[in-house]
Amino acid sequence: MFFELGLALAALHFGVPLGYYAVAKRWLRKDWGIKEDGGYRPKISVIIPTYNEAEHIAQRLENVAQSYPRDKLEVVVVDGASTDGTAEIAEKWAEKAGVDVKVVREERREGKAKSLNRALGLATGEVVVIADADALWAPDALRRAVAKLADPSVGAVSCVKRPIGGPGIEEGYRGFYNALRVAESKAWSTPIFHGELAAFKREALEAVGGFPTDIGADDSHTATLIALRGLRAIVADDVLCVETVPEEGYHAWRIRRAQHLIQHFAKAVPLLRKAPRPFRAVLAAEAYLHLVNPWMFAGAVAALTVSAAAGSWPALAALALGVALLAYKPYKTWATAQAYLMAAAVKNLRTKE
Ligand code: GDP
Ligand code: MN
Repeated sequence: MFFELGLALAALHFGVPLGYYAVAKRWLRKDWGIKEDGGYRPKISVIIPTYNEAEHIAQRLENVAQSYPRDKLEVVVVDGASTDGTAEIAEKWAEKAGVDVKVVREERREGKAKSLNRALGLATGEVVVIADADALWAPDALRRAVAKLADPSVGAVSCVKRPIGGPGIEEGYRGFYNALRVAESKAWSTPIFHGELAAFKREALEAVGGFPTDIGADDSHTATLIALRGLRAIVADDVLCVETVPEEGYHAWRIRRAQHLIQHFAKAVPLLRKAPRPFRAVLAAEAYLHLVNPWMFAGAVAALTVSAAAGSWPALAALALGVALLAYKPYKTWATAQAYLMAAAVKNLRTKE
């Protein structure tokens, strides 16, 4: 009885994402259905939120400054009371840069989303772009993103990410997730965006009330709200950025990000009814995969353990197989992601961080 239950839960846990991946692979072959305009040059406001980014900020400002014609570019660095001199470095850089850079110093650290909203109030561009300080863009990333925003059906564009540093599983995880983000985007829109490069039409951003301050995944949630209002929110495969993966505290970092995604999907689920057709399936699938599916894995392990303890050899064999497969990298990558999601869900009960 517990053996069959365990197998059923395991089949559900692995079957649903595999089925979704198979569907996504078909989406990947679709055309974008977007009319790009490589000559579209709206005024752009790039917002760089910073908290103790002394190590990265100068290089990041240089990177942003080179990504777009300077007479059409405005940069707002909004610093959450860094204690490592980030704001001073940015101010010094701004003095001799020949780029319009504003440095906003907040009196205390109030979180990224509040800073983004404050910067949004100062930004004058037609397009507003979030640029995390600890990331870099490919030289043409911003221009390629903007070319897509020229299409009136597109409200927001984000990047595919290449991780730098961190353990090997990060690389495998990224490959899989980048493909999913692009596939969902081709289907219509993706509910997961990246603060490393998240470009929004200003009007669309204002229509959804800026960035939510009550949850962590401000970029993903904002993009999702824009998609719910009928404009596409896409991760484009030719818009590339790199992000620094922490060498120390990798697990804590993954769990914190998982916490943010869980908060985002929990808040998005009640809005599912309002989602435009093609997006509804994507949002429902991703919400299931982030909120529910990891627990199917836990349930399978629990049921098989009970069964094995009661003397079932097949249950013991199934558990042993589950452990042995950890030597297979994609499986290990998947299993750790499930563990992060469950740890994050538990942590979310106590703190929001
Ligand atoms: P992660 O990539 O999800 O781990 O998040 P990060 O710690 O890299 O933060 C994303 C961006 O927001 C970085 O540029 C940070 O410097 C910045 N940031 C983080 N916390 C705050 C904050 O409280 N205030 C401001 N203004 N920026 C912040
Ligand atoms: Mn980061």
